[in-house]
Amino acid sequence: MIFQHNTKCATIEKFRRVSGGKNLMKSYRKELWFNTKKRREYINITPQVEQALQESGIKEGLVLCNAMHITASVFINDDESGLHHDFEVWLEKLAPEKPYSQYQHNGFEDNADAHLKRSVMGREVVVAVTDGKLDFGPWEQIFYGEFDGKRRKRVLVKIIGE
Ligand code: ZN
Repeated sequence: MIFQHNTKCATIEKFRRVSGGKNLMKSYRKELWFNTKKRREYINITPQVEQALQESGIKEGLVLCNAMHITASVFINDDESGLHHDFEVWLEKLAPEKPYSQYQHNGFEDNADAHLKRSVMGREVVVAVTDGKLDFGPWEQIFYGEFDGKRRKRVLVKIIGE
């Protein structure tokens, strides 16, 4: 009987939260736009994500951050220039940009390598929000990885919580 009582209370609480109670979940959406000078670049977007979090007013929840293009990545790693050089060298070994003719995808485009690099580096990250801040481990920073730049492209930031 106690179990049934608790289950009922939990259901009412859930209903209250989604139906306009004072703890109603908030959601916030923002696009970050980029137009890199080079074909490949890594950009630390942590300050822009922190700004979006401030604008949202959300104190507890989750941030989703994803590239909206299939030739770019969002990933978390160290903001260290040597490491970024290592990523570049490593990805060029895995999926060299040239010769363009080595890829079937490059019939009308030249960006097959960018699709492959993006697949390795990932589409998105999710970061916990605790006490109004991004709840990072040591040295974690969020990066936009561009693999086929020199045109306008964007990242989606979606924040949910309360
Ligand atoms: Zn393509």
